[in-house]
Amino acid sequence: MPEGARKSSAPTRPPGVASGPRLRVMLPLPLQAGAYDYRRPPGVEAPPGSFVAVPLGGRESLGVVWDGEPDPDLPAAKVKPLLAVLDAPPMTESLRRFVDWVAAYTLSPPGAVLRMAMSVPAALEPPPARAGWQLAPGAIRDGVKLTPGRARALDALGPGEVLSGADLAARAGVSPGVVRGLADAGLLVPALLPRGAAFPLPDPEHPGPTLLPEQAAAATALRARVAARGFGVTLLTGVTGSGKTEVYLDAVAECLRPRDGKPGRQALVLLPEIALSAQWLDRFRRRFGVDPALWHSELSSRTRRDTWRAVAEGAAPVLVGARSALFLPYPDLGLVIVDEEHETAFKQEEGVIYSARDMAVVRARLAGAAVVLVSATPSLETLTNAETGRYDHLHLSERHGSAGLPTVQAIDLRADTPERGRFLSLVLVEAVRETIARGEQAMLFLNRRGYAPLTLCRACGHRLRCPNCTAWLVEHRAQRRLQCHHCGHAEPIPPSCPECSAPGTLTPVGPGVERVLEEATELFPDARRIVMASDTIPGPAAAAAAAEAIAARQVDLIIGTQIVAKGWHFPHLTLVGVVDADLGLAGGDLRAAERTLQVLHQVSGRAGRAEAPGRVLLQTFSPDHPVMQALVSGDVAAFMAEEAAGRRPGHWPPFGRLAALVVSSEDEREADRAARDLGLAAPRAPGVEVLGPAPAPLALLRGRHRRRLLLKARRDVQVQPLLREWVARVELPNSVRVQVDVDPVSFL
Ligand code: ADP
Ligand code: ZN
Repeated sequence: MPEGARKSSAPTRPPGVASGPRLRVMLPLPLQAGAYDYRRPPGVEAPPGSFVAVPLGGRESLGVVWDGEPDPDLPAAKVKPLLAVLDAPPMTESLRRFVDWVAAYTLSPPGAVLRMAMSVPAALEPPPARAGWQLAPGAIRDGVKLTPGRARALDALGPGEVLSGADLAARAGVSPGVVRGLADAGLLVPALLPRGAAFPLPDPEHPGPTLLPEQAAAATALRARVAARGFGVTLLTGVTGSGKTEVYLDAVAECLRPRDGKPGRQALVLLPEIALSAQWLDRFRRRFGVDPALWHSELSSRTRRDTWRAVAEGAAPVLVGARSALFLPYPDLGLVIVDEEHETAFKQEEGVIYSARDMAVVRARLAGAAVVLVSATPSLETLTNAETGRYDHLHLSERHGSAGLPTVQAIDLRADTPERGRFLSLVLVEAVRETIARGEQAMLFLNRRGYAPLTLCRACGHRLRCPNCTAWLVEHRAQRRLQCHHCGHAEPIPPSCPECSAPGTLTPVGPGVERVLEEATELFPDARRIVMASDTIPGPAAAAAAAEAIAARQVDLIIGTQIVAKGWHFPHLTLVGVVDADLGLAGGDLRAAERTLQVLHQVSGRAGRAEAPGRVLLQTFSPDHPVMQALVSGDVAAFMAEEAAGRRPGHWPPFGRLAALVVSSEDEREADRAARDLGLAAPRAPGVEVLGPAPAPLALLRGRHRRRLLLKARRDVQVQPLLREWVARVELPNSVRVQVDVDPVSFL
């Protein structure tokens, strides 16, 4: 059953009728046609935005009454009646316009975008009544002997409050058995939970820290923006640890505050990796006394349904989520924060290909909300918008606390070469040793999972590659397997070379974090080590546990991939060693240097966040590269100015527009033919240039052969109509897929 289809019929199904006015209904299906015409039976109310059930090819589908004129020429017999209007808050006009806008901008079928805004069909039914517990009225607690756990559970419930057993146990920090025991003892009695979950209102007047003068000035400016209750974008920059988060939480408080007789509005905070945000959530809790609502892919289906519904009913004042949270049905959105706005995680690369950072600005404009883009190293796109005055810009120049910024030093690997088969230079090894000896923590950063990125045969030179992708297989020694990081293909490590059958000749080449761990284990046998990579930190709970262990000083040495670069605050961490600072510069796409700077700056920012000063060592073969120079000098602004100067003349983004076409087929010749035909049909227009077709760097991905074309245009060219006509001009077999990626971030 496709998403959006229903098993049961709705309770409000009207009787079958043959007449009634027509209306348009958008279905959450990837159909190019957009909305379809249906008939509204007399007496049934279905204003635009209503969620409805309609017949579709012999079954029922859910949809939304859309705007626009039905087709009067469609024969009456073809126009079927609505089956039901669902008991859910209608989709707001601003969300409907957002769906249309995203579809038009990304060249996606509107129904595919609508599907993201209807990702929880179950939430369109009124929530079922659920049982919970409340304090037994008049129960006599005095004189009853209570275990500390039981006493905590009773204290956790307010008078008349109803909580589920699980929620009560979690709030009181007791096992579910304790709750059952209280029920058996007659101290708790069953009661119905309020329908639908309501998230507690964070108290905007709950005191936060006293802001420094510079922070206070930025907070005042942001609060004024939010209080104006209109659209506007502000870029908030500042070095890592300068208090950007504290400042924007002040803006969240302002958003929640009633003003001029109007109630507070909803706030949305987008984080690039919500699963790694345990510390952020702690901060929020400390600032506001309650938890925000969360939105990400790892929620249970019940939490998804409750949260979606709570958002729609205005009962989720603050939503913290991944990019998909943009498509939730906020009735009155007042503020959108995009934290770490430069992160590539905000780009969705599959299905509807969109940038959540850019779409956040659109969502806010349509909702009349303020946007705050936050970063220590903003993207050139955003910086340019600030420089041209489209965005306001607030900057925090000092780190909070007594420690200044960490000192950054490059280690020239040409001079300071590690021993054969080793990856840590003597300088770095010494620095780690000293740091740990002082009782401080050190971190080794390498953005590569597994043991070794390449395995080759010493006898014949054969390299082990993925059967489905243009990619080497990565050894994961802990699991004794080789893995493809693109398609998930995995196989055991063969005992002999699959090509020449020589036994025992397969050799790992290059390091991944597992190999760095192996080296560190030999070098620092007494150090307590932790590896933070997606294999070892599979979810939010593991990330929170790791962060706690580090904060509690149960760890001396942290070894990790980009996971460790995120917004962690580890007060005892004073040394960051970057094992291979050049890694991100290979491949050389448009933003390779910018992105390398961003990730290395962010990982550097983990060092020296409390009293003791921090130190960063970058192992590199090119210490003169502008990225290394910028990190060492700390002059990120000068680096970005150079980046801008490099991109401006060629009309590269943000001084021009790009769109990529990725043509793919399981058949290589078919992919080539389709790419060639598209190349021949390329649009010719002033200020427009088409590059390619060329094999994609990932020429084979999940068994599909891929070719790329790149359309480059001056800024004043509207690329969507060009792209639409271009793709429509070429007739392609069904087995060929053409993916359009407007404003591409990945060039693989
Ligand atoms: P950023 O978001 O810029 O990296 P944070 O807001 O995370 O900075 O602040 C870094 C650390 O300093 C956090 O632990 C934060 O609580 C603390 N901090 C920042 N400003 C203040 C302040 N005015 N008073 C107390 N603590 C502060
Ligand atoms: Zn693969």
